[in-house]
Amino acid sequence: MNGKLYLVATPIGNLQDITLRAIETLKIVDLIAAEDTRQTLKLLNHLQISKPLISYHRHNEETKADLLIKNLKEGKNIALVSDAGTPVISDPGEEVVKIALKENIEVIPIPGACALITALIASGLDTKEFTFYGFLSIHKKIRKQKLEQIKKETKTVILYEAPHKIISTLQDIYKMLGDRNIVIARELTKIHEEFIRGHISEILQNYTEPKGEHIILIEGVELKEEKIEFSTLEEHYNFYETQGLTKNEIIKKIAKDKNVSKNEIYQYFIKNK
Ligand code: SAM
Repeated sequence: MNGKLYLVATPIGNLQDITLRAIETLKIVDLIAAEDTRQTLKLLNHLQISKPLISYHRHNEETKADLLIKNLKEGKNIALVSDAGTPVISDPGEEVVKIALKENIEVIPIPGACALITALIASGLDTKEFTFYGFLSIHKKIRKQKLEQIKKETKTVILYEAPHKIISTLQDIYKMLGDRNIVIARELTKIHEEFIRGHISEILQNYTEPKGEHIILIEGVELKEEKIEFSTLEEHYNFYETQGLTKNEIIKKIAKDKNVSKNEIYQYFIKNK
């Protein structure tokens, strides 16, 4: 029988953020595939767990995926972890998950800390709809294309960035998107956790020596409602009525759309209804 592939989230700073299920899973598996075995060893030592480790990172993902699949087919249970946070999200794992599913191997997510969600929930930005772009490419053309796309996003945009690139990325965002409202979430769950909120220009002025891990969140642009043309005031009225608005609300809306006084619209309906 095939073994199971567990995708285990680990803390992004504070070691107490490991879940009970993650600990249980790390204890029961036969092998742990880790992005950086030294990093994972620190966590395992802290949890007093001793397990064989296989390195599985961006540069050996293809070859090591085959090795992991071979072990899974031999019936071994494997936990895949990244250095911090949720594996597969801007971290290795996609390859082995895809192959495992093709081979009918069960893939079980063990959720926990995820940097982008941790940043979003305390950002104060819209959480109803958001979009994650991972790391911006360093290739100029692709980077520019992505920023053009981000410029039009009406949803909250979340970006990961390496500490030494944060200033240049903020400068690029400023150049392409203008002085947008952003949030920087820094060193989440760690001693120096910080949220910096404001316009990019202010942040760039005051933020000269960024330290630690950063996430950039950009407020989406306001959706401009398409102007609908109505041939009669009745048609205009019916449009809002179907949206469940009251008579007063409808009159207010029509007056605003037509840039006339509420009274003018009101009088029309007294005479014509
Ligand atoms: N897979 C991980 C996750 O989603 O939780 C993210 C891994 S990605 C290689 C690393 C990036 O995540 C960092 O460059 C930073 O943008 C963000 N990150 C990770 N931990 C963080 C923290 N404690 N505070 C702020 N950002 C963090």
